Amino acid sequence: MSAAGKPVAMVSGGSRGIGAAVVRALSADGFAVSFGYRGAEEAAAELAAETGGLAVRADVTDPEAVGAWLERTKSELGSVRALVTSAGITRDRPVALMSAAEWGDVLRTDLDGVFTVCQPVVFDMIKRKAGSVVTLSSVSGVYGNPTQANYSAAKSGVIGFTKALAKEVGRYGVRANVVAPGLIETDMLAEMAEPAREKLRASVPMRRFGTAEEVADLVSFLVSDKAGYINGSVLEITGGLTV
Ligand code: NDP
Repeated sequence: MSAAGKPVAMVSGGSRGIGAAVVRALSADGFAVSFGYRGAEEAAAELAAETGGLAVRADVTDPEAVGAWLERTKSELGSVRALVTSAGITRDRPVALMSAAEWGDVLRTDLDGVFTVCQPVVFDMIKRKAGSVVTLSSVSGVYGNPTQANYSAAKSGVIGFTKALAKEVGRYGVRANVVAPGLIETDMLAEMAEPAREKLRASVPMRRFGTAEEVADLVSFLVSDKAGYINGSVLEITGGLTV
């Protein structure tokens, strides 16, 4: 609980996209939210001002920075009740042309970064016998996606990691679940040219991309007590893309 009596949430990659929508949703739910970011200082400061949250530069590939973020969160807000890992990058290329750096960057951020953030927070949650963790995977991690072998491998890894975690911590009153979005309208998709975007949009039964707010609503539900018996689940949010 924070000094103001609010439960505390941490969100990695909270400065933009889905992470920013999660920061807004959890703030509206009554959480005191501490969010990490890598470079988008201005967006982070604006979001902190808007939500009353705490923004801390914390690259998930840097365990020391993540440790400092957690310590600042605990000392300024209190012990962490909910953790959402949204930090992620893509470096798309067919396997035959993919460089070791493109492979490594994605694995370090999207998979190692999840461990780096979860490990110390989960340790505290077990001690306090309460908590909820939501990791962001992707349909690419469930089904695989061409040109995204690095991302698909990392996001599959996130699912395995979260399922194992759920089995470890359930007995301590801590839950861990995965959200696997399909095509969501954020900077990640905006980088694509319009003809490719149109083709993708047409492949969704609902004929539109999802919004970051729709994903945040699912995350908000999962961390809440309404989802008290959901543990180790992978929830797809795709507009029917994978049916
Ligand atoms: P965006 O590109 O919009 O935002 C990415 C966020 O991650 C930013 O806040 C960015 O910080 C942060 N970030 C990136 N690298 C690091 C790092 N090394 N350390 C700390 N923070 C970092 O992505 P989305 O919101 O679209 O994606 C959020 C999550 O959802 C990701 O894990 C993504 O893989 C997943 N997802 C997204 C889908 C989509 O269609 N958009 C579909 C399926 C899954 P900064 O702003 O400082 O750069």
